[in-house]
Amino acid sequence: MEYGLYDFRRDVPRYFKGGKAEDIGKHIMLDQERCVLCTRCIRFVDEVPKTSELGIVNRGHESTISIFPGVRLDNDYSGNVSDICPVGALTLKEFRFQQRVWFLKKTESICHGCARGCNMTVEHNKGRIYRFMPRDNAELNKTWMCDEGRFSFNYYQDNRLTEVKVGSTVQTLAQGIDQLAKLLESVKPEEVAGIASPAGALEDNYLMKKLFEKRFKVKNLAAPFWGKPGDEDHILKLADKTPNRQGLKLLEIDTEGNDLLARIEKGEFKAVIIMHNNPFGQDEARAEKVYGNVKNLIVLSVHNTKVVQKGTMVFPLRTFIEKNGTFVNATSRLQRFRQAIEPESQDVIEASLWIARLAKALKVAGFEYEDTPSVFNAMAREVEVLKGLTFNSIPSGGVVLSLAPVSPEPFVGIKAQPNVLGKK
Ligand code: SF4
Ligand code: SF4
Repeated sequence: MEYGLYDFRRDVPRYFKGGKAEDIGKHIMLDQERCVLCTRCIRFVDEVPKTSELGIVNRGHESTISIFPGVRLDNDYSGNVSDICPVGALTLKEFRFQQRVWFLKKTESICHGCARGCNMTVEHNKGRIYRFMPRDNAELNKTWMCDEGRFSFNYYQDNRLTEVKVGSTVQTLAQGIDQLAKLLESVKPEEVAGIASPAGALEDNYLMKKLFEKRFKVKNLAAPFWGKPGDEDHILKLADKTPNRQGLKLLEIDTEGNDLLARIEKGEFKAVIIMHNNPFGQDEARAEKVYGNVKNLIVLSVHNTKVVQKGTMVFPLRTFIEKNGTFVNATSRLQRFRQAIEPESQDVIEASLWIARLAKALKVAGFEYEDTPSVFNAMAREVEVLKGLTFNSIPSGGVVLSLAPVSPEPFVGIKAQPNVLGKK
């Protein structure tokens, strides 16, 4: 300050670009005064989503970045421009002024939004998630992620189930598991059905299958998913909106389960255990029809859904942000996610450890697991394509398994969105 106190030596007035907080898209604000015209954002919209909404207008010192007239920056990947803008001229409406970035802690994770499994970082502070950021994986998502995945972080924080309930009575986790064990001991093994889940981690589904093999009947276990297929673009987004359907194939769990569902609907089972109910907007009317006649409906869920409200015993589950685990994506890449935050209550449990505790209460041997890595390591000793792997040896970019992929690699055969000129 002391040494800078000289008079301004230029006699022409200083040029201010102006243009603060311009709303240019569903998620993006532009602070024109910060822009250094590097054109990285223009290149991104031209080369990745190929929608070309941005350009430079005017000449010389009056040049500014702009959206084309009548066009908004609303492509499915728009959030990425805020990551690549070097000066913070493009910011996310969902994140600006929410948190100082240096307060945020970062945890390596995998997007749960579709079967692509983009690598990302969960950024959080004091138990709250503030944003998902893409994490570099040259073989998968490069440095991008779609808006649907990026802005899904509140989905994992809202409408959470937090209490164990038996009937309408709130119980502790230990009491709930004891009562469930008593109930399951009072029925025949073949009178219990299980619904595993493509939204659950590999470890959750592995232990669910093991419990049905050892204590009930494995033919009475399936993992149907009733969510509608979403849109797909061959950039990254896939129509399958579950993160781990390939994992179910690997574990040889039926992903249709039509016979089992028909038998449940007819009321053939005295108890049905549903794990990870209703990820991403399941068809509630169908759920009501299928589960309406079940006398003892045991529901393990992250969210408080209509099926949860029908449950006779209800157990709250951790999200993938609150636990460690693995998913297998549509191109058969096994990937690991890490726990970022703790849930509100210790009664909110990982599905795999819930199954291990139930097995112990039912006196079934072979479920002595303390944490997810030990479940994974036991599974890797049994499942052929996982042989030689341990939880900690999985590279941060994942490892491709010898399992037939169900979709092409990303960025192959891109179905380009129309650009501002209407061209594809
Ligand atoms: S990336 Fe940022 S600084 Fe570069 S041209 Fe775009 S808005 Fe301006
Ligand atoms: S493409 Fe799928 S996995 Fe990737 S960020 Fe989007 S929703 Fe998430």
